[in-house]
Amino acid sequence: MNIRIPPTEKKWLLCPYCGAKTVLYDNVAECRGVYIKCTRGCKATFEVKIKNGKPIVH
Ligand SMILES: [Zn+2]
Repeated sequence: MNIRIPPTEKKWLLCPYCGAKTVLYDNVAECRGVYIKCTRGCKATFEVKIKNGKPIVH
């Protein structure tokens, strides 16, 4: 059984290539199949993968 945790904490998702801040996610975020462009740093496009509020690093 899953314990539901309320979203209490927001963190920056960092670009996997250059470490620039890209988007905010919370501690219960779920995300896949969403692509963003690193606009602050290297301009690379990468998939946002977050499971149980933890980013999955490529
Ligand atoms: Zn970057």
